[in-house]
Amino acid sequence: MRAQTTEKRRAPTPTKSQLRDKTIRLRVRQLIDNGRLPAVIPKRILAGYGAGDLCTACGQPITNTQVVYDIEDDRCHGRPIFHMRCHALLQLECAMRAELN
Ligand SMILES: [Zn+2]
Repeated sequence: MRAQTTEKRRAPTPTKSQLRDKTIRLRVRQLIDNGRLPAVIPKRILAGYGAGDLCTACGQPITNTQVVYDIEDDRCHGRPIFHMRCHALLQLECAMRAELN
């Protein structure tokens, strides 16, 4: 058996998607702090395909090939919509806050 010669990194370099997630989580946190989003799991979530509208969390369009999560909750301002990934980050943030409270 041959020894592995690949160099071991001291600290793993964050991938682009990890950095992107971090940015979105910060934005989600701000929206909750500003009262634009409720820090609780919403009452009703509708899922469908996007129509090019902008995601509330990352500000990128949700295309017709991407799943959109549409939040229906009277504690929200307007009708926030999210990419599947961005919505998962919102749920994670809500769960973390629920544990702290
Ligand atoms: Zn998004």
